[in-house]
Amino acid sequence: MVTVNENEIARWIEEHQREMIICPHQPGLLLISKKACIKRYKAALGRAFETISEDDSFHYVLKKGLSLCEGCPIGRKLVEEEKRSASPQGEPMEKEASQQS
Ligand code: SF4
Repeated sequence: MVTVNENEIARWIEEHQREMIICPHQPGLLLISKKACIKRYKAALGRAFETISEDDSFHYVLKKGLSLCEGCPIGRKLVEEEKRSASPQGEPMEKEASQQS
């Protein structure tokens, strides 16, 4: 088993701080990557958690956490940024050109 010490964790966080956010909605000031935040936001939109019963304690906790992500402005903003960075740069001009013809 690999052990990781506190210094390695602190160094990793420092090196990746641009990829991380502190979620103001989840309990305990959760430090989470932007990618994980986006995944949670999308999972909350998909509402895959809605049918989970309270008898299933693991999934019930997951459901409760995801319910905080539903409609979260931070998650929404990160998804929009992800879409913008994934779209080809020439696309808006091509759309404008096709609308003028
Ligand atoms: S979507 Fe919002 S509530 Fe969910 S992890 Fe991201 S910042 Fe936190």
